[in-house]
Amino acid sequence: HYRCRSAFKLLEIDDRLHILRPGLSVLDCGAAPGAWSQVAVERVNALGTDPAAPTGFVIGVDLLRISPLEGAVFLSQADITDPSTQRAIQNLLPAEKVDVILSDMAPNATGIKELDHQKLISLCLGLVNLSQSILKPKGTILCKFWDGHESRVLQNKLKEQFQDVRTIKPQASRKDSSESYYLARLYKGK
Ligand code: SAM
Repeated sequence: HYRCRSAFKLLEIDDRLHILRPGLSVLDCGAAPGAWSQVAVERVNALGTDPAAPTGFVIGVDLLRISPLEGAVFLSQADITDPSTQRAIQNLLPAEKVDVILSDMAPNATGIKELDHQKLISLCLGLVNLSQSILKPKGTILCKFWDGHESRVLQNKLKEQFQDVRTIKPQASRKDSSESYYLARLYKGK
């Protein structure tokens, strides 16, 4: 019932590393068509399906249109790097900040590997900056990157700002050899 196979990457990562749980609020960056948001809605109990557990919140953002999903709030046709999108997110959040930022974002690939790598790294670096205003202390970022020269720059920046940073290569992304994820936990921000 997932909108896209990418769901299985998040399920696999979350089964292993437990980043989502009932009651958490999640920002899903690059959410279209919405499979990661589907997983997040289930795992944070955004619909209150389990009445005994706390109810979470999911907001998804994408440049593309995203079909509505019960339990999630979507900002379609919105660029996460745009300050007006960032303000819109903040206005929609139930609390000031989120517990988890997910990013499966990918820029339109030019086919020039080094350039695509750099574009995705700078999107991720932008998310680290955004954390300051939108991520709770002790919060988590999971972000996709394509490996290359500047991966270290991103990794070092994450290590400055999070206590626990690891690299994840899900089984489900085996065929895309350059795709990996950084999982950064325990945000040091105030
Ligand atoms: N995780 C999604 C799912 O499971 O349905 C799939 C995400 S897809 C691999 C990557 C998405 O990132 C694309 O839909 C693209 O439009 C989006 N994206 C790329 N740059 C973006 C930006 N600056 N702001 C918002 N979304 C962006």
